Amino acid sequence: MLRLLIASRNPDKITEIRELLAGLEVELHSLLDFPELPPTLEDQPTLRANAAKKALEAAKHTGMLCLADDTGLFIDALDGQPGIFAARFAGEHCSYKDNRDKALLLLKGVADRRAEFRTCAVLAAPDGVVAFKEGVMPGAISTEERGENGFGYDSIFIPAPGNRSYAQMSDFEKNSLSHRARALEAMLPIIQEIIETT
Ligand code: IMP
Repeated sequence: MLRLLIASRNPDKITEIRELLAGLEVELHSLLDFPELPPTLEDQPTLRANAAKKALEAAKHTGMLCLADDTGLFIDALDGQPGIFAARFAGEHCSYKDNRDKALLLLKGVADRRAEFRTCAVLAAPDGVVAFKEGVMPGAISTEERGENGFGYDSIFIPAPGNRSYAQMSDFEKNSLSHRARALEAMLPIIQEIIETT
């Protein structure tokens, strides 16, 4: 069976990606199985380049086909911040909640709350990138936290159209429409083709 590695150590992301890939006949691994590999320095200027760097480093180290994603949150009223720096918005070692609090504070009293999540997914083999796919979800930042599910900015992001945050949705519902789901759905046929030809 084809071995596919999710090039992440983030348990929230790994769980979501595992669910999104559940229909594939692959043996799934993640970087949690390879603690010796140092974390990829996400120092590239774009989601695409950071995702490619993560996927390629993991593929070269493990010899496996690797899938990485890099996600950003782009808030219109903040000139696109936090953008590709979504993980470190409130500082180098901040929590998900610190990041949400900072976004809510900066948007206090702001009427235009439009924002979008963008994910770039990259599939790479040890000898190079196989495919890039993007997923975008437009929406808005709520005025307060809503819901208990999910991770990161889920409790303050309301995908359009609608008025419920990602955190007010079940995992199944978020995975049927999210930015990450859109990117990975576009990637599925490519992985499927590799399964069929190896
Ligand atoms: P990463 O660089 O792709 O790991 O994502 C950067 C940051 O974006 C994460 O640390 C989370 O705070 C946030 N993020 C990524 N994906 C999601 C999501 O699906 N929902 C909410 N926040 C997310």
